[in-house]
Amino acid sequence: MPRPILATVHTGALRHNLGIARERAPDARVWAVVKANAYGHGIERAFEGLRGADGFALLDLAEAERLRALDWRGPILLLEGAFEARDLELCSRLNLWHAVHCNEQIDWLAAHKTQQPHKVFLKLNSGMNRLGFTPAAYRTAWARLNALPQVEEIGHMTHFSDADGARGIAHQVALFEQATDDLPGERTLANSAAILRHARGALRGAGSLAADWVREGIALYGCAPDFPEHSAAHWGLRPTMTLSTRVIGVQRLQAGDTVGYGSTFTADGPMRIGVVACGYADGYPRHAPSGTPALVDGQRTRTLGRVSMDMLTVDLSGLPDAGIGSEVVLWGRAGSGALLPVDEVAHAAGTIAYELLCAVAPRVRFEAA
Ligand code: PLP
Repeated sequence: MPRPILATVHTGALRHNLGIARERAPDARVWAVVKANAYGHGIERAFEGLRGADGFALLDLAEAERLRALDWRGPILLLEGAFEARDLELCSRLNLWHAVHCNEQIDWLAAHKTQQPHKVFLKLNSGMNRLGFTPAAYRTAWARLNALPQVEEIGHMTHFSDADGARGIAHQVALFEQATDDLPGERTLANSAAILRHARGALRGAGSLAADWVREGIALYGCAPDFPEHSAAHWGLRPTMTLSTRVIGVQRLQAGDTVGYGSTFTADGPMRIGVVACGYADGYPRHAPSGTPALVDGQRTRTLGRVSMDMLTVDLSGLPDAGIGSEVVLWGRAGSGALLPVDEVAHAAGTIAYELLCAVAPRVRFEAA
């Protein structure tokens, strides 16, 4: 028998969450962001649920090849563009849109001999200060690209730094509109937080947020980008991954007994604990403290002590029927239908759902449902 740990990808939930994006930004086409192996879900499994998207956005040429191997003939956007000049050949061959964020990438394009002209999105750094041309340099970059016979279409993109936070997006939208104002080409700005919080009814019109394309990642995977302010359920999103396993050992503790490495949890009275087949080598966060929520047989309980490489421990107090073989859901949906949002586990562990989903280890079995 394989170890009982299993990641179940809910393809129907992916489809449903894509529908929410369409409701929030009805005038836009949707790039489904499937970088990082579809946020840990697996490109092929995610594609099952997301094939209704208008295009797929990712970083990696190898992932783009995997999508083309699934017979996806529609648009693919390489979000960071070419990493070196020789990537351009595959960009042409796979017929990718690719981001252009620096002058070196324009130099590579100028030197590229190709039968099939390139389609690019020029990237504006409107405040994130990660990738992109400054507003002052943007038009010069556009003019350079526009003069190249190797480039047949130039779109415009930027990325929000705080769409789910206090700064919001208005200042970045204004910079984007100034920089791209009268330039031809398609536009893409919004990530999940912007789609959920700002797209509907806000900033409509040419060059606006909902125009042309949105780029949705985490909300497709059933997470609220602005958790804990809002839950995924608040936005109508459904969980797309369940990480489940079983209790493989039970211990009875007395007052003063401790649990696990470093003895970080001490029982203050008699209690039963369950040892669970999941550890940090499966991708569960080692820094998740005692008290991180988990479901045992569909009932909410908490982790105890330190997470070790292959195991963690849960409190079985109040769960007299739980024992060896009991279902444990680390996040997602239990057989009973009970739900433990990955956002909640991430919050308890001091991280974000993105990190937990991406970190599920290759040794975990995956299944699409
Ligand atoms: N666009 C770009 C350029 C990104 O880097 C990302 C993800 O970080 C996204 C869109 C999708 O963001 P989110 O997962 O928050 O929707």
